[in-house]
Amino acid sequence: MLSQRINNLPISATLAMAAKARELKSQGIDIISLSLGEPDFDPPDFVKDAAKKAIDDNYNSYPPVDGYVDLKTTISNKFKRDNNLDYKPSQIVVSTGAKQSIANVCMVLLDVNDEVILPAPYWVSYSAISILAEANPIIVPSSIESDFKITADELENKITSKTKLIIINSPNNPSGSIYNENEYRAIAKVLEKYPNIYIISDEIYEHISYGKKVFSFASIPEMYDRTITVNGVAKAFAMTGWRIGYIGAPEWIAKACNKMQGQITSGANSIAQRATIAALEASPKKIEYMVSEFKKRREIILNLLSKIQGFKTNVPEGSFYVFPDISYFYGKTIKNKKINDSNDFALLLLEKAHVATVAGEPFGNPNCIRISYAASIKNIENAIERIKNVLEE
Ligand code: GLU
Repeated sequence: MLSQRINNLPISATLAMAAKARELKSQGIDIISLSLGEPDFDPPDFVKDAAKKAIDDNYNSYPPVDGYVDLKTTISNKFKRDNNLDYKPSQIVVSTGAKQSIANVCMVLLDVNDEVILPAPYWVSYSAISILAEANPIIVPSSIESDFKITADELENKITSKTKLIIINSPNNPSGSIYNENEYRAIAKVLEKYPNIYIISDEIYEHISYGKKVFSFASIPEMYDRTITVNGVAKAFAMTGWRIGYIGAPEWIAKACNKMQGQITSGANSIAQRATIAALEASPKKIEYMVSEFKKRREIILNLLSKIQGFKTNVPEGSFYVFPDISYFYGKTIKNKKINDSNDFALLLLEKAHVATVAGEPFGNPNCIRISYAASIKNIENAIERIKNVLEE
């Protein structure tokens, strides 16, 4: 019999949809996949060359559990250069993707029945990982009217004596919203009153911003000692499969994460770590071509969606998702299928339009669906055309 732990764990909606799309494709069905948040670029050549060199240089042995020292030094310099954050190498832990970085922090900070505040919409795995750590996710809802952002007051209303952690994410997956400095400072002002609450600031989409400056929560001096800054190379350098994430954190938290992953993975892949040094030493200007391409696609998808009755969109400022409110369709029957919620709607799009998206419900917003535009313009255009045809028929 399986454990309660795994039985209580929700399946990852993003990965489940991607698997479903893959399965239908393998049956010969022409699915357009706008489900996974995965750049459709290749990593830059200088990153690939660094990986090839690492193989030739025989980086075959176990790396240090928390990452190679020179990689941690590079990350420390990156934090200073891009985020104005001072993290010594001893405050940095390299992991198998930002997802593991977040899981480490949750495992080392959370006790049974602690509360984790999640401003919605939130990335699906925040709540699942909190549950795995036997804590309770507490959701702060938002809507398209507030650009999917919460206020400091709304956050404070959810704080109790059990609150241990809050997980913030800007640019946001799935909404693309970016919290500006003033909004973050207002949240920090509230948190100053509650010194026992820690903050994970997930900044994995940092470089995918269409003009707005991305502000690091830990750069607020009063928050530095209780913020864990999470980042990685997957999104910015199109290295999703290389699985490298990292944290900058107070040293005692970094040490605990090191201990945790020493029992679970023994550290992240050696070749990918060497390639990450090349990625992070490079100027962010080197990846601007990807960002400007995503920006072009954002205009295209927003324009196409605006022509479908019932899709309410705002303008995402970063990441590569749109998160339209599609609640207009609830209660309606389309292609003989009654639409009651975002899961029904995403399934309708998959089965009838052959377009894979992800329901908003696992992101904490049941009125929306997430559409990734990290796909070719041709695929985006075809997908939205198919969706339009199904809905207007
Ligand atoms: N973060 C990406 C997404 O939200 C990758 C999938 C995942 O790890 O959940 O689509």
